[in-house]
Amino acid sequence: MNIIKTIAEMREEARENARRDASVGFVPTMGALHEGHVSLMRRSLEDNDVTVASIFVNPTQFNEQDDFDKYPRTFEQDCEILEAAGVDTLFAPEAEEMYHPRHQTSVAVAQLADHLCGISRGRRHFMGVCTVVSKLFNCVQPTRAYFGQKDAQQALIIQRMVIDLNFPVEIVVCPIVREKDGLAMSSRNRRIADDLRDSALTLVRSFGYACGMLKDGERDAQTLINGMMEFILRDRRVEVDYVSIVSPETLEDVATVDDFSLIAGAILIGDVRLIDNILVTPEGPARGQIEFI
Ligand code: AMP
Repeated sequence: MNIIKTIAEMREEARENARRDASVGFVPTMGALHEGHVSLMRRSLEDNDVTVASIFVNPTQFNEQDDFDKYPRTFEQDCEILEAAGVDTLFAPEAEEMYHPRHQTSVAVAQLADHLCGISRGRRHFMGVCTVVSKLFNCVQPTRAYFGQKDAQQALIIQRMVIDLNFPVEIVVCPIVREKDGLAMSSRNRRIADDLRDSALTLVRSFGYACGMLKDGERDAQTLINGMMEFILRDRRVEVDYVSIVSPETLEDVATVDDFSLIAGAILIGDVRLIDNILVTPEGPARGQIEFI
């Protein structure tokens, strides 16, 4: 695997890929890689001639310095994982390489960023995400880029940005990869103490609870949300940031589940913030969602 640290070298490789007319799949990550990330790599390897992954813990998308400092960094292990998966190139620039000291340009997607995580993490979070993804696209020049449904709002925002700014990139959104017990894989899971692991499962289990209510005929979003909140808060070690039921297209709250709807939530286990979501229909989980529910 070719490891690239500078934008100049990445651009040179992008030019070479273009000269060879090679299709390029790109998987941006913040490292601390797990099977969820690898699923995106595999999909890219299937679809493209060349696969580029990036590892960049992007400072501009963190609201709190402490969260940024504590974000897990496992570079050596990540390289082994990428190598084993068959990734061709890893782009891993330092923050100084990505951000000029006088950097002042940002990319913002308006309404979609005003919901779900945008409320608690603030507008700057998704601005940081959009800005760095735009910069990475300009460096790597991919044909396709792969994002996880785990970060449903992020995937939707990137899709909007690519359309609005005419990036010549196809966005592919891949399903959530979960542990056997249902916990959505996340780099942050490794920060959860063993004795709090069960508490981390309350969010996905509350989705199961809501799906049970749906199957029993409940359609009212607020009643479903109240049910989920009560379910989660039975565990005193969990704090709820939000639980929402929204339109999967606009992310606006729905009053009743009478079409495809996205149930999304964020909880705090100590200082670790976990997010998850599930697409549902009025009958329960949409096809291809969590099987054990
Ligand atoms: P991150 O390193 O957390 O920024 O994630 C990089 C990419 O991997 C994003 O597109 C995420 O949505 C995706 N991803 C993270 N966790 C999972 C998961 N459990 N299943 C599928 N995709 C994931």
